[in-house]
Amino acid sequence: MNEQQFASDNYAGVCPEAWEAMQKANQGSAVAYGDDEWTALASDGFRRLFNIDCEVFFVFNGTAANSLALASLCQSYHSVICSAAAHIETDECGAPEFFSNGSKLLVAPAVDGKLTPEAIRTLALSRTDIHFPKPRVVTITQPTETGLVYSIDEIKAISAVCKEFNLKLHMDGARFAHACEFLACEPADISWKAGVDVLCFGGTKNGMAVGEAVLFFDKALAEDFDYRCKQAGQLASKMRFLAAPWVGMLESGAWLKNAQHANRAARFLAEQLSTIAEVKLMFPVQANGVFLQAETSVLDNLRAKGWRFYTFIGGGARFMFAWDADLARVQQLADDIKAAVSEQAV
Ligand SMILES: *Cc1c(COP(=O)(O)O)cnc(C)c1O
Repeated sequence: MNEQQFASDNYAGVCPEAWEAMQKANQGSAVAYGDDEWTALASDGFRRLFNIDCEVFFVFNGTAANSLALASLCQSYHSVICSAAAHIETDECGAPEFFSNGSKLLVAPAVDGKLTPEAIRTLALSRTDIHFPKPRVVTITQPTETGLVYSIDEIKAISAVCKEFNLKLHMDGARFAHACEFLACEPADISWKAGVDVLCFGGTKNGMAVGEAVLFFDKALAEDFDYRCKQAGQLASKMRFLAAPWVGMLESGAWLKNAQHANRAARFLAEQLSTIAEVKLMFPVQANGVFLQAETSVLDNLRAKGWRFYTFIGGGARFMFAWDADLARVQQLADDIKAAVSEQAV
């Protein structure tokens, strides 16, 4: 077995709660394509967790969840306002544009990855003529790709601008649980109660093998979404195995417990490094990621010591923690970073 790495929260395996639910679902036969008991249970679990009668769909991954959700909110001549750091812009291979038949992404420059009401206003007003795609949706990532969490008030302020310009609000919640944990709030507080129309709730990065849930709080927006999923190759025939892990995660509370552990591991690394002047945090640590700014030679040394990490956000080293992060291994990482810094100084 390889030593644990923190290059991505997708390096982690499946948490016991999700695994056990899969095993329970693996008894006998069940109706296919989502008309089974597990899918009904998981959907009701989300309605209970969010305290609202929403429409729930299960897809295989986040790219599909985001792209199909955005496509359902847009016509091809519409546009989607997002941050320059947004996963839909940088990491989905044009899938949002593809599945919407061409809805353009209007990208707001963002120093820290966050979208602001001012940036939305600027983009919404930048062009209002017939020759430019009409803004229709705003999407925010909670927490951001830079590990920052939008507060309840920040989301409400964004939602207010959306209402002013008649824009729908979509949330990429690939790590939604981590945001709930950081804010110690109810899921409803940072979703429908704050004005979010559609939420993509991530399961994979929170301990499942595979699967994201798409929640439509405005049920009218979900019309024909099942057909959209099917056409995109995202309708699981053995749907119970996409749904069952959610039942395990929601009923046991693992969805929040896993996020809590991941966030704690990130905070732990940040605390370990707080006394080293040569290594700076690029962003405050609020969720399960730590972004470090250091000399290239320090990062090269860290790689030479066997650590894997990405530097696609502003050239800094990104470390992501999952439900299974071993704090002793995090300590080792901190020690190796300290060593790399002092070896550089010599
Ligand atoms: C990981 C991630 C996704 C989902 O990516 P897939 O690889 O398609 O599952 C979506 N949004 C954000 C912000 C992510 O980090």
